[in-house]
Amino acid sequence: MHLSSKTDEKSALRAPIAPYFRRPHWLYVLWALPVSLFALPLAPLTLYRANWALRNGVLEITSPALSAFLAGPWFRRLAGDQGFAAASIGHVVIARDAHALASCRAHEHAHVRQCERWGPLFPFAYVLAGLYVACTQRRFGAYYWDNPFEVEARLAEHAVYVSPRDNPY
Ligand SMILES: [Zn+2]
Repeated sequence: MHLSSKTDEKSALRAPIAPYFRRPHWLYVLWALPVSLFALPLAPLTLYRANWALRNGVLEITSPALSAFLAGPWFRRLAGDQGFAAASIGHVVIARDAHALASCRAHEHAHVRQCERWGPLFPFAYVLAGLYVACTQRRFGAYYWDNPFEVEARLAEHAVYVSPRDNPY
């Protein structure tokens, strides 16, 4: 998931996603399918004015109802005032609108790659990693901010957004 922030706005609409397919893509899709299926209950939120696109093998969806969902009190409680700008569920990325999608794309696609690695174990690995860092650091905010999966996704953002000459990764 990705928090709304003003830095997202600045980093919007930059470089395209580098291709990362290492084996036939359908193998990754199949491995991550148990997670992707959890996007299905959100289908009713895509019935009105939704935009769909397939990008690097990831289904990206925005709609007004998805926007309200991501800004809902359940996410605001977890992430702070604004909720989430975007979220990935297996090979499905949902975002508030086209701008949020563009600014969060590198981050969310990094989560997709993580899900391709971990498959159905990914949600459990994510939660356990978050709980571990929250317990060891004794603060709840570490669950998100210091979760190794989030740290990796933020690094992926920088890998896309800085010029190759300045890229330390
Ligand atoms: Zn994230």
